[in-house]
Amino acid sequence: MACPVCGSREVGKVGARQYYCHDCCVEYVVRPDEILIYQVNADGTLIALEGAAH
Ligand SMILES: [Zn+2]
Repeated sequence: MACPVCGSREVGKVGARQYYCHDCCVEYVVRPDEILIYQVNADGTLIALEGAAH
């Protein structure tokens, strides 16, 4: 699916419901009722950004 942040289709699947956007460098997790968005730090840790309701 397209990135919920920037709309890019340059996304790679990194988990069962987890994707990484190469354009804005975020990871997002698709859940049935929401999409959780994470910013990826240089050291690989994730910071939760706001979720986007469907
Ligand atoms: Zn993006």
